Amino acid sequence: MRITLHRPHQIGGCITEIESNAGTRIFIDLGHLLPDGDKPSDDKLATKDAIDKLTAGAAAILYTHNHGDHVELFNLVDESTPQYIGNLAADLMGRKYQRLSCLDDQHEECMDRLMKLENFHFYRAGKPLYFGKRKDITVTPFYVSHSATDSYMLKIQCDGKTVIHTGDFREHGYLGDGLRKVIDKFHIAGNVDVLIVEGTNVGQTNKPVMSEKEICDCFKEIMAKRKNVFVLCSSQDADRLESVYQANYSTELWRPFVCDSFQAETIKRISRKYKGLGPYYQFNKGKAYIYDYDPTKNKGLMNKMKKCGFTMLIRSSDKFAEWIDDILKFCNREETSFVYSMYRGYVEKGSGGYNEKTDAFIQPLVAGSTPCLKGSKRYDYNHTSGHASIQSLKEICELIGPKTAIIPIHHSPDADFHTVGLRKDLDDKIVEAETVIDGITITFNKA
Ligand SMILES: [Zn+2]
Ligand SMILES: [Zn+2]
Repeated sequence: MRITLHRPHQIGGCITEIESNAGTRIFIDLGHLLPDGDKPSDDKLATKDAIDKLTAGAAAILYTHNHGDHVELFNLVDESTPQYIGNLAADLMGRKYQRLSCLDDQHEECMDRLMKLENFHFYRAGKPLYFGKRKDITVTPFYVSHSATDSYMLKIQCDGKTVIHTGDFREHGYLGDGLRKVIDKFHIAGNVDVLIVEGTNVGQTNKPVMSEKEICDCFKEIMAKRKNVFVLCSSQDADRLESVYQANYSTELWRPFVCDSFQAETIKRISRKYKGLGPYYQFNKGKAYIYDYDPTKNKGLMNKMKKCGFTMLIRSSDKFAEWIDDILKFCNREETSFVYSMYRGYVEKGSGGYNEKTDAFIQPLVAGSTPCLKGSKRYDYNHTSGHASIQSLKEICELIGPKTAIIPIHHSPDADFHTVGLRKDLDDKIVEAETVIDGITITFNKA
């Protein structure tokens, strides 16, 4: 077996290629480089020619989740190559492209992406998929918790060896404890040769990260202090939506939970997927009130919002800027909080990923708002990492205990995985340069 890590030592755009001795090849993830602020980044692989050259003859492309840095190049893959992802992940991608297709400059590309998405195949968690004429590669997907809804870790069996590719994951999300249950139920611990593991937080912070449950508690604290609460968060992160929704309907004030029709439909689809699968993402404690695109239809809702206060999910767009303008007219600013619930770097000048448009969008909300969370300055900042904490990386690597190699990917170029502090026998197995070990060839393509 040969494992090739394309663009491994960077966050975003990591691609893993696995080839059996008989020549069957699969790819895990085909992501675009992360955008450069509000501008797209220049990605040499983002052409049909480059993707054809890379993936020609591949038996399948398998995506761990639907974040752009893992899936964005899917539309460039030849139609003869099967592509796999979770069904809700594909559904949410489709809805995003449908919405964007209304924009003239994006219409054509979005329609092309929608057509390509129609041919996707879907995972069933725990059910193996077989590739190659002699079925010499088997891939079994398992749910993991991440800030993208419907994310998977993949177990790959090939030439008598077992590889685990974690994808992006975290244990501090609502379904985070599922990872250890999967490791236990499917006898993964001690039975893995190579572990390919994300390391986004390596070199970033050694501090414990807040759990999603604690994020929900912070929302409750804010809602207890402020009558009107605007929340800017990812519209597809089921955990964060659950936290905001739960906090809103846990207060005794029974304030309306307000969003637009796009967000309401997303919530509906998430709850459909998780129906009967546990206590989370049901969104059935109280109604999601829809703020209508036709302002004449919002009179009743506006009156309710004025009287009772509200929690409103917002997105950075001209439409929301208009609506916020209207709503702020009746809000006492002392009673109003703006909660920024995403990566802070998007709106902090000078940090990686600074996005001028998002920063401009939040200005009317920031002006005059008094944060009520300790340590917040311009707004109430309530966010936690979508990725594994250092403690979790250490524990999961040690629990799985791979026999041959640990290959860190998806981390900043200067991050040193040895700082995770794995026990000595495992620390010695960290592989970051070309090697042949136990019959497995591991190569790196950093281009
Ligand atoms: Zn990622
Ligand atoms: Zn991700």
